[in-house]
This record gives sequence, C-alpha cells and structure tokens, in this order.
Amino acid sequence: MLVGMFVLLSVGTAYGATQAETVEIATEGQVRLLSEHVRYWQQPEGVEIESLDQLMDVDWLTMQKASINAGKSKTPVWFYFDIENTNTELVTRLLEIRWINLSVVDFYAIDLESGETSKMEAGLLHERSLGDNSNTSWIFPVHLESGQKKRVYLRVVSRFNLFLPMFIWQVDALDKQQWQRYVWYGLAFGVLGAMLLYNMSLFGFTRDSSYFYYSLYAGSVIMYEAGLTGVGDHLIWGHIQWFRMNGFALSIYVSFFAAALFMRNFLQLKTYGGWVLHLNTFFVGYWLLSAITLLLGKDYLIVVNEIFALISCVVALATSIALWNKGNVSARYFTIAWGGLIALTFVAVLMMEGFLPYVSITENGQLIGFVVEMLLLSFALAERINRERKEREMAQVRALDLQKLISTEREEKLMAQEAMLQMQKETNSQLEARVALRTQELERTMTNLEIANRELAKLSVTDPLTKVHNRRYFDETLTREQERSVRTGQALSLILVDIDHFKQFNDSYGHLVGDDCLRLVASAIGDAASRGSDLVARYGGEEFAIVLPDTTQQEAYQVAERVRDRINHLKFIYKGKRIPISASLGVAGWVMVAGDEQHELIEAADKALYEAKTNGRNCCVLSNLAG
Ligand code: GH3
Ligand code: MG
Ligand code: MG
Repeated sequence: MLVGMFVLLSVGTAYGATQAETVEIATEGQVRLLSEHVRYWQQPEGVEIESLDQLMDVDWLTMQKASINAGKSKTPVWFYFDIENTNTELVTRLLEIRWINLSVVDFYAIDLESGETSKMEAGLLHERSLGDNSNTSWIFPVHLESGQKKRVYLRVVSRFNLFLPMFIWQVDALDKQQWQRYVWYGLAFGVLGAMLLYNMSLFGFTRDSSYFYYSLYAGSVIMYEAGLTGVGDHLIWGHIQWFRMNGFALSIYVSFFAAALFMRNFLQLKTYGGWVLHLNTFFVGYWLLSAITLLLGKDYLIVVNEIFALISCVVALATSIALWNKGNVSARYFTIAWGGLIALTFVAVLMMEGFLPYVSITENGQLIGFVVEMLLLSFALAERINRERKEREMAQVRALDLQKLISTEREEKLMAQEAMLQMQKETNSQLEARVALRTQELERTMTNLEIANRELAKLSVTDPLTKVHNRRYFDETLTREQERSVRTGQALSLILVDIDHFKQFNDSYGHLVGDDCLRLVASAIGDAASRGSDLVARYGGEEFAIVLPDTTQQEAYQVAERVRDRINHLKFIYKGKRIPISASLGVAGWVMVAGDEQHELIEAADKALYEAKTNGRNCCVLSNLAG
C-alpha cells in the first residue's frame, strides 16, 4: 500500500523538463548520479520509437525524489543524462546501474554535435553472453575525448519498480569498490549460509521441525538477497533464463511463505488459536499460492504482492508482540529480530521510493537486517533448545524423585505386608496352641465327666451302705428279666432274705453295729449267689432280694439254702464275743407268661418268707404258688 502511494506520488509530482544538469567527469573515481542529472519519459502504449531524434521533442519529466525511480510501468521508460569530459585527455568511464532486476536496459550514447551513436543492449530478458562484462549490476563503458559531451539514453523495462541507482566510475575505482563489496557480500552470505547449514544439521540430529522451517526460511532469504543484490544472477542462476526472469519474485514469495511457517512453528501459534492462527494460516496459503502461480507461468498476484508483503510484516510483528505480552519467551526474541528487520526493510523501501538517498546503509540495510535477524533467531532457537533441555532435565529429576518415592513406598508396603504376615503366623500358632490346650482341657473334662457319669450311674443303682444294688435297680432288673423269661421260656426265680430279730440286734448293740452286720450279710449273700447273671439288691431295711434268671424254683431253693447257711455261719465278733446271725428266706419262681404282673412273683416270695418266719425262722420256704 505504501509502495502504491509512493508510485502515485512520484507520477503526480513529476514536472515538465528543463535542461538536466550535466554530469561532469572530474578526476574523482566515482560520481553518483542524482535526480537533477536525470530526466525520464514513459513511452505511451502504441507509440514506437524508431529514431532517437524523436526523443528530442517528448515531454521529459524531472525526477522529484532523492533517488532515481520512475515507479512501475507496463511500457518502456526512457531516461537520459548528459555527460561531459572536462579533463584534458580522453577518458573511459563505466556507467553502473546497481539494480539487476530490470528486464531490458538499452544503452545509447550520442555525441550531440556529431550525432555519432553507440548502442548496447542488456537486461535479464537477453540471454547472458560470454563476453558480457556485467556481474551483479549492469555496466556500460563510455569513451569521451577531452571536452567531449555525450547524451546517454536508457530504455528500461521491468516488472518491478524502475529504480536506477547509477554511478559513473573510473575503471580501477569500480574494480576496487566491487572487490570490497564482494567481500562484504561474502561475509553476509557466509553468515546466512552458515545459519542454514547449522540449522539443517540441527534438524538432522534433533528432528525438531522448528529447525527445518528455520532452514527453509534461511534458504529462501539467501535466495531473496541473491536476487536483490544480483549475486544470484551473477553466480547461481544466470544461465537459466526462466530463473533470471522469475527468480527474484519467486524468492520473495518463498521467503514470506517460509517465514510464516517458521513463525507458526516457532511461536507455537496452534496453542494460541484465534486471530493469531487464522492470519498466519491465511498468509501461509497466500504466499504458497503466489509461488505456485508464478511457477505455472502466471504472476497474477504481482500487483498486490507489495501490499501483502507489508501487511505480512506488520501482522507478524503484531502477532509476535501480542504473544510476548502473553508470556511467550520465544516471541520476545522473535519481536526483536523481526522488528529490526522490518525497520531496515522500511528504510530500504523509503530509499527505493526516493525518500532516502542511495547510500551504503540504505542500500545494504536490509541485508544487514537479515544477517542480524538470522543470528538473533538462531540465538532464540538455541535459547529454546536450552530452555527445553532444562525443562526436560527438571522433568527427569522430578520423575526420578517420584520413582524413588514409589520404590520406597513399595518397600515400606512390602515390609508392612511381611510384618502383617509374621503377626498373622504368630497369632495363628498362638491360636492353634490355645485351641490344642482347650481341646485337651475339653477332652480331659469329657473324660472326667464320663467317669463322673459312670460313677453317678453306678451310684444311682448302688445301695450306699451295703454296696449291693439298690431297690430301683432291682425293680428295673426284675422287669427286664421277667420280659426275657416270657421271650425265652426260661424260669425266673426270686429269693427274699430277711434278717431275724434285727430290731432286737439294733437295740442290743446300737445302729452302727447293726450297719456293720448289714454289710457283712450283704457280702455273704453276694458270695453265695455268685452266677454272673444273678443279682443281689437291698430290698429295704434289713431285707435283701436275689434275682436268679434262667433258674427254676428248686434250683433257687438250693441257692437260698446256701445263702442261709453262709449267714448262719458268719462270725460276727462284738467285744470279743460272737454274735449269732440268722435270716429267713422266701423262694418263688416260674416261667413267666405274658400278662404276669411283677408284684405276683414278689408277693409269692414274700408270702414264702412270711411262712419261714412263722415256721421258726433261720429256714427257707418254697412258695406253693408256683405255676
Ligand atoms: P423278725 O425276726 O420277725 O423279722 O423280727 P425283727 O426284729 O427282725 O423285725 P422288725 O421288722 O420288727 O424289725 C426290723 C428292724 O430292722 C427294725 C429296724 O430297727 C432294723 N433296721 C431296719 N433297717 C436298718 C438299718 O439300716 N440299720 C440298722 N442298724 N437297723 C435297721
Ligand atoms: Mg423285716
Ligand atoms: Mg427281721
């Protein structure tokens, strides 16, 4: 946009020509052509110039700027200046146009008095010939006799600004100046090339895409500067005609494209999103499209590209400043590097548009700006490597600490588990021991209980005084044996024994002696009725009963006799004197049948006993009820 304004300004402020100031070649090595030396005329469309004489009558315009610049033009633009040799001898001078990006530069030198004309054709449109002495600029020799004055016409065509920084040189001085200039170019391109190679190798090692984009950007800047300074045409692509014509434009598009990509990656625009990302995406696409259309042979966008170039710069700067504000460390470096470059590019544009003079700093400012930018961005990348490495290291340390913590916690957990296991084992064995103890105790208790039970059972069927069976056991046994007799058909007999005159015995010797007597009698009965199945029981008081299973009444009678005899022969000594003891016995017995009552057998034996008492005691009576 700015460039467009300058163009309008330059056209609008051009005035009708007066005679231009003649360039006087004195002894100095270099004369810079100024605006006042030059007039220019834009050849209208459809008009052809067949003879230079036609040019005498056209409306030449004065250059109203600090530099010689006729803006953009589709048709050829003519320039002229007069040159006079004020020396006393013939001189050869060289006209240098230090702006290589001109498609056509036709050079005419006319002796205004004799009309003698020399012509040379140059420009990128012409294939470079071997004898061409041009290098990074267009150079035309001018020979002048002493006092001779010549007019130089230049017919120029370009798709860029018709910018003509011109110098008249002594041959030696140009050689010297060019030699110096190439050293400086070498240095600047050396730095840029080193940055390119360095970052390419960094990309090779780290595979970090930032370095790739940076390398792409550095490569495209080298290409752009090569196109701008003429180094490219001179050294790199001078023999490829397409490149001669389009290389400079292509370098501009590719460098903007690469710069936008690099910025997108370096400032991590994707993490911010919003206008920052959208504008970047737009410019990446725009410059890529420009490059592609150029490669396809149609440079449609050339008309607006200068505007977009300026907008791209401003947007990049604004983006970078905005991200710097948001705390993006990389953006700080980027802003400084980019800001400097933009300032110096601005200076270059102002110079080309004629607002600033064509001097060393304005001519080379942009190249210096690129070198500084490249270095600063490279520092920024290095800073980023360093920062990221530190972050990585810190993360590693944190991870290590965490790992340690985890492993100690795991150890502690294991130890706790082990301790718990140990405790469990101990508790288990303690419990087992206790259970064993309790089991033992229980078994002992059970045994004791069994013994006690057996004892109790025995006690419950034993008469405490005489130790023979008691009345309850007698009853049970008699019932059982009665049933068995019914079942088997064997006889069951019962003997009732009653001690004679026992009341009297007690009265005479006391109850305790009576008890002793009872015990002695019981044992005598037990001895006499000694068959395993026989049962001796205390029936009550001084009466005993003998149950004799599988025994007939007659057999029972014999047992009763034996019992009576034993009792009668007992030697019961009291106070040294034998006390005679006798007993009466009733015997009853038969084969039981179903329906026989228990008391029938007892009553029969009791009745027999009663008879024995009445018969005079100390005898056995057999029941007569026997069936
Ligand atoms: P009989 O010849 O007619 O049988 O005369 P008896 O005196 O033996 O008969 P009686 O039924 O009149 O007396 C039984 C006595 O036996 C009465 C009681 O003093 C005595 N006697 C009963 N049980 C016991 C006992 O457990 N210990 C002692 N020392 N005497 C007892
Ligand atoms: Mg009695
Ligand atoms: Mg008695």
